[in-house]
Amino acid sequence: MATELHETIFMAKQERHRNLFLNYKNLNKFPVELLKDEGLQFLERLYMKRNLLTTLVHTHFRHQPWNFSCLTFQTIGNLARLQSLDLCNNALQLLCPEIGRLRSLRHLRLSNNQLKCLPPEIGDLQDLEILDLSMNQLMFLPERLHRCLSLQNLTVDHNLLSHVPRHVCWLHRLNQLSMAANRLTFLPLDLGRSRELQFVFVDNNAELKGLPSYMYNKVIGCSGCGVSSHVAEGSISAVLGEALSEVLVGLPPEVKVVGSEADNVVPLEELALRTLHLTVTASLCVDLTALPPITLPKSLMDLLLFPLGHCHRCSQAMFTIIYPKLFPLRDTALAGVHRRTTVSFVAYCCSSHCLRTFDLQG
Ligand SMILES: [Zn+2]
Repeated sequence: MATELHETIFMAKQERHRNLFLNYKNLNKFPVELLKDEGLQFLERLYMKRNLLTTLVHTHFRHQPWNFSCLTFQTIGNLARLQSLDLCNNALQLLCPEIGRLRSLRHLRLSNNQLKCLPPEIGDLQDLEILDLSMNQLMFLPERLHRCLSLQNLTVDHNLLSHVPRHVCWLHRLNQLSMAANRLTFLPLDLGRSRELQFVFVDNNAELKGLPSYMYNKVIGCSGCGVSSHVAEGSISAVLGEALSEVLVGLPPEVKVVGSEADNVVPLEELALRTLHLTVTASLCVDLTALPPITLPKSLMDLLLFPLGHCHRCSQAMFTIIYPKLFPLRDTALAGVHRRTTVSFVAYCCSSHCLRTFDLQG
């Protein structure tokens, strides 16, 4: 097998292959020949499905960090034209940060491995269009993923995600998001706000009881969600009140106030943040170079640029407060399509006025 592998790689280098198929080779380590010399600089697609890889860091270099960093700097450069990398069905536990140097990568398939986390450098893959992470052990997604601005299709089915970073809502080219069979309890307020996002699959997240109202006009999969909820006896308002409190379980920690129709005054801290947000975003739009030296702490700047969400009624940015309104899916026109679920659509508004005037189909 070793000789055959060696010959395959040798031929690919000699003949400047653009595709290299190393599926079903019983590889237990990443072939170092792939990273040597310059022969593979023409490689665009590398398939390594169904092997026994446990890491992309070559074991030989693991204890020599200096050599390792030098080597990878050069070697990953050799694969600079690589557009497609298929490492499905291995036993990968780690993905080296140098993956971020594969700047031409458009398709990255890592399903059915043992990944527990991803390096933030994955956010450097500006051309990445398809990212398949299904069937791993991921508990969270890196926030820097929102820098993958070309991403169109993100699949994270069958992992251990309990939440999705709200930064995912800034992936403006994302068309399909699939997060079935995780442990989601809550989705970002802005999910679905982007027109480009048309397909959202969150089936089999039993604790998920609410979908942001932006998703009302999308293709959604939500079978097996909210299954533990029961229809309570009592007045409609009491039932809705109970359902609403269930939906709000697991809200992000930024939410300090959950307002209702009776709360007409928005807290001062929230008003201050909204005003700052308008100032910051307006000045960024005008001319970045004309900005005065920013005196705000970086964490506050980040907060102002990536608010908690936007009012589903008027698009006002929100930071610490939400005014939620519930629309049980079974009461909507979609009820017939989604019989196997008890989830509700939730509108998140910025004020009691928007709460009163919001209409799901408006
Ligand atoms: Zn509003």
